[in-house]
Amino acid sequence: MIKSSILRILIIFFSFYSFAFGAKVKYSTWKKGLHFETYLEEHNISKKILETLDEEDVLLVSDIEKNQKFYELIASNGVLLQALIPVGEELQLHLRKTYDGYDLKVIPIAYQKNTYFTMLSVKTTPYKDILYTVKNRALAKEFIRLLKHSVNFRGIQKKDKLAIVYTQKMRLGQPIGVPDIKVAMLESHKKKHYVFKHSDGKYYDENGEELVKKYMGKPLKHIRITSGFTERRFHPILKRWKAHHGTDFGAKRGTPILAAADGKVIFSGRMGGYGNVIKIQHKDDYVTLYAHQSRLKAKKGDFVKQGQVIGYVGSTGRSTGPHLHFGLYKNNRPIDPMRLVKFSTNGLKGKDREAFFNRKRKYTKIINTIFDKNMPSYVWNTVDKLAVTPKMKDYYKKRGW
Ligand SMILES: [Zn+2]
Repeated sequence: MIKSSILRILIIFFSFYSFAFGAKVKYSTWKKGLHFETYLEEHNISKKILETLDEEDVLLVSDIEKNQKFYELIASNGVLLQALIPVGEELQLHLRKTYDGYDLKVIPIAYQKNTYFTMLSVKTTPYKDILYTVKNRALAKEFIRLLKHSVNFRGIQKKDKLAIVYTQKMRLGQPIGVPDIKVAMLESHKKKHYVFKHSDGKYYDENGEELVKKYMGKPLKHIRITSGFTERRFHPILKRWKAHHGTDFGAKRGTPILAAADGKVIFSGRMGGYGNVIKIQHKDDYVTLYAHQSRLKAKKGDFVKQGQVIGYVGSTGRSTGPHLHFGLYKNNRPIDPMRLVKFSTNGLKGKDREAFFNRKRKYTKIINTIFDKNMPSYVWNTVDKLAVTPKMKDYYKKRGW
């Protein structure tokens, strides 16, 4: 549980400092537009601490979301003893006072991940019914996103039925991030429409046709991926948790960078470890980011077309050589850019196609069982936000708090 692990991390220090300072745990909100560097300054912490992070990690500090909730441990004299600041869904920055300064580490966020299912009859609209019954807005959104390609939602009638099997990460008793739908089905006018997630992470209908349309183009004319997107992985040599919120493309200095889709330039300038950066706002709350540029061409406020040259490949910021770091964000959350970028090779072939149909058979069986038996949906609870468990109370007591 994140609750206990956050407290455990803080408590280790709390017990160390509490006698001397009478420290307090504060649940804070990350202000809009606040840079991590400014946050360090506010607490009289040297920016040199960023140099202890490596190239990939230093990029994470630019990815703290506005309004992000985070924990601080503050001594009674106002000195920051610790902070735990989430970056994305998987990792958090752990800033810690030491004897002679501070140290900064990237550590994983603990969460639980389980499989759940939903089955209901439509009373108003699928979106509202999922929201009110299951109490998971992200699930309702994701269901509509996936089914809208094969079903006309205007034609849906009362008593049409739907079923979903999905995995969900949860923290503090609440669902976090976007649920991972494995299979979903909507029965409308006596016809069952399915979507299946394949092992390649893409969604297909029952005939193996890819469903979710990709509308972004390649950010470089010739693509060579040198490093893919990861939410969190354990680096076996460095023995540290890491994430890479984007895709790196190897290219020569000066190679033109292309806008992945139509949109408006919302940032053009320097940004910490990203160096020279352009950010473009697209439809549906997507933002693309193009980092380490040698020269920026597009200016803030420009409207750009897909394929238009916006700048040139370089190695500015924290970078070991010329490359393009290409990031994609949805509602400020980093997601894998490859999910939306269209490449020429598409469609299931050969063994992959065979594997898809095997998977499809398995999931059809599962979802039909849920559907035929009218099994009740899992409902996300909305209480128990920050309750201290009896076990935690004991822990506190033993330490005389
Ligand atoms: Zn990168």
